[in-house]
Amino acid sequence: MAAIAERLAEIRERSRLACARAGRDPSEVTLVAVTKTHPAAAVREAYEAGQRDFGESYAQELRDKARELSELPNLRWHFIGRLQTNKARYVAPVASLVHAVDSEGLARELARRAGSRALPCLLEVNVAGERQKGGVAPAAAEELARAVRALPPLALRGLMTIPPAGEPAAPHFARLRRLREELSSALGEPLPELSMGMSEDFEEAIAEGSTIVRVGSAIFGPREAR
Ligand SMILES: *Cc1c(COP(=O)(O)O)cnc(C)c1O
Repeated sequence: MAAIAERLAEIRERSRLACARAGRDPSEVTLVAVTKTHPAAAVREAYEAGQRDFGESYAQELRDKARELSELPNLRWHFIGRLQTNKARYVAPVASLVHAVDSEGLARELARRAGSRALPCLLEVNVAGERQKGGVAPAAAEELARAVRALPPLALRGLMTIPPAGEPAAPHFARLRRLREELSSALGEPLPELSMGMSEDFEEAIAEGSTIVRVGSAIFGPREAR
């Protein structure tokens, strides 16, 4: 496989082309390089190629990598996985953005563990109502958004979703975008971020308005099962 720097360049180029097709400015889309299960050396390699936003899905793994790589300036960690309340303490001190807040209990614990540090976060929405998946139901998103807003260190920035496997993703992305618009007018404040799109579908997500794409295997190769 090509080196990480080459694959990163390829993803950036595809992302730029997807923006051009959608009439969007490429600066509107942040690429989060998802490094879960890959070693700190892979993060370093991508960092040296200019990448600054990295995504992790497991709380202790984030804590350990953040510690190991703490000397890299301006590196931003995104916590993109499902987070158990009792692991919020590993994430709140180091994350620049928590993508998958899906309950008030988790929000409270993140707020408590963030202390005086502002902690931007997104609500994960289970757009297709899948049973086994995390995320708040679309109908409950407004209530959760209001609860998050009432917890000062948390800063609600938008929504995130993972569409169901094995079906076209675009309608689910469009649904998240509409929900963002509804919520934003109900709350009377902008929700700038839409975190949607992974290796297989980030171009479609950009076409539907994504502002953050989370790409792992297309940059770092396959992951070991876990
Ligand atoms: C692992 C993961 C990704 C990256 O998936 P790829 O298909 O490897 O790009 C994106 N988002 C979340 C929430 C993930 O857990």
